[in-house]
Amino acid sequence: MTPKKNEIVTLEITDIGSGGEGIGRADGFTLFVKGAVVGDVIEVRVLKAKKTYGYAKIERLLRPSANRVESVCPVAGRCGGCQLQQMSYEAQLCWKERKVKECLERIGGVEFEANRVVLPIMGMDEPFAYRNKAQFPVGKDKDGRIVTGFYAGHSHALIPSDFCAIQAPVNEVICRTVCNHMERYRIAPYDEETHTGLVRYILTRIGAATGEVLVCLIVNGKSLPRAEVLAERLKTAVGMFCCGETGNASGNEKTCDEANKADESGNRSCGKSEGEVKAGLTLKGVCLNVNCEITNVILGAEIIPVWGDTYITDYIGEVAYRISPLSFYQVNPKQTKVLYRKALEFAGLTGNEIVWDLYCGIGTISLFLAAKAKRVYGVEIVPQAIEDAKENAVRNGITNAEFFVGAAEDVLPAKYRESGGSMRADVIVVDPPRKGCDERLLQTIVNMKPQRVVYVSCDPATLARDVKYLAGNGYTLVKAQPVDMFPMTEHVETVVLMSRRTK
Ligand code: SAH
Repeated sequence: MTPKKNEIVTLEITDIGSGGEGIGRADGFTLFVKGAVVGDVIEVRVLKAKKTYGYAKIERLLRPSANRVESVCPVAGRCGGCQLQQMSYEAQLCWKERKVKECLERIGGVEFEANRVVLPIMGMDEPFAYRNKAQFPVGKDKDGRIVTGFYAGHSHALIPSDFCAIQAPVNEVICRTVCNHMERYRIAPYDEETHTGLVRYILTRIGAATGEVLVCLIVNGKSLPRAEVLAERLKTAVGMFCCGETGNASGNEKTCDEANKADESGNRSCGKSEGEVKAGLTLKGVCLNVNCEITNVILGAEIIPVWGDTYITDYIGEVAYRISPLSFYQVNPKQTKVLYRKALEFAGLTGNEIVWDLYCGIGTISLFLAAKAKRVYGVEIVPQAIEDAKENAVRNGITNAEFFVGAAEDVLPAKYRESGGSMRADVIVVDPPRKGCDERLLQTIVNMKPQRVVYVSCDPATLARDVKYLAGNGYTLVKAQPVDMFPMTEHVETVVLMSRRTK
């Protein structure tokens, strides 16, 4: 029987949808319930009802699931960032591993034993405060105060909050310092509806291995009133945060290294509260990013320096990377190392191989593999990222890596055609965005006949689709390694090894 909108229904959650929402059935009718955990018995209110399924929200928890835990964030249910905080981390990992298996079986349609091919997921020991990049929308709360916060799921409604359990704690201090500066100099936050106001977002990037911090304000304009004053205040605030102080900035400019030496025991001293951050924190730069468009896209193209550098440096393993606000860089540094090591292992390099790294970003995987390969070629669509990649190669003294700007599905086929089909690759690595690889690219990969394809994926469904294509064109799925890059969220990363079948 189809329930009506606003009807109260009692159900047990028996499954999880692909977006992490709980699924329960009442009289054969399927309801999707945000924030519900498998095993919960709940009373829900129906929000929307179609013919055979609908959406509902939790009204009352009658019997909580054994896998239900208290959310760490006060705004967990409303903020759109984390979908799984109410589920124990163990249960999250189980679900993610199962999701990868199910996609490969159902969509991949490959005949294999999923349990043998899909390796146990690699999770984190401490699944909080892992992110090295944050983007906070700036707005006003109901009392008209300038605040930062997070968007509610699937909307641009601002939920004010200083705290985020998966972000670096220093961001709280940075956001507060920017908001105070805006109040003091009467700088208006950007208003999407009227396209007025100045400050749209605060973006921060932190180098986990170096402790370098970059603050970038995304503005609907070309300048920020008294920007140099803000930079000074941010320097002080980051320094004081490291000393374990959170009070008013008072000109204390101790760097984090000094702070760590001075205070071995403080809970908030760097290296303890920052998860992976080993060094102390130092503000490396403050900059503006110009975005005057009416758009949902966060960043514009132009960066204006205010103070210091417009990039930070970070290390993954031995390789140093320059990261600017515009370039893609994996957000979970600890797990990135795990992921890249797997990619390297799957690539099976001996030093003689020609490797193509498609969707290479700032050359992270390319340079990570370069030491073990004869030559690495990277392809990436964002020109700034390729500039960073080239710079990164020089900086690390890597001379066997070359980079090309363009869409992978244009560049690789064109180069292969130009070579008259003689261009060779032993290993091809792909790391596409969620939509997966374009078929033109997959076709060229098949034509080039590399021994191994290493597929790094952030979406098991499109991964499975592309695995199916490759499996139908001479490749065998050898191994799939899920890695939890995004604890508390619905997302899961997978590295897959596909090997060319010999007749
Ligand atoms: N391998 C890198 C980046 C992966 S993210 C890393 O681990 O850091 C995916 C990258 O693909 C992004 O940098 C994005 O800009 C790029 N991209 C998106 N579409 C593309 C396309 N059609 N061709 C090439 N690169 C593309």
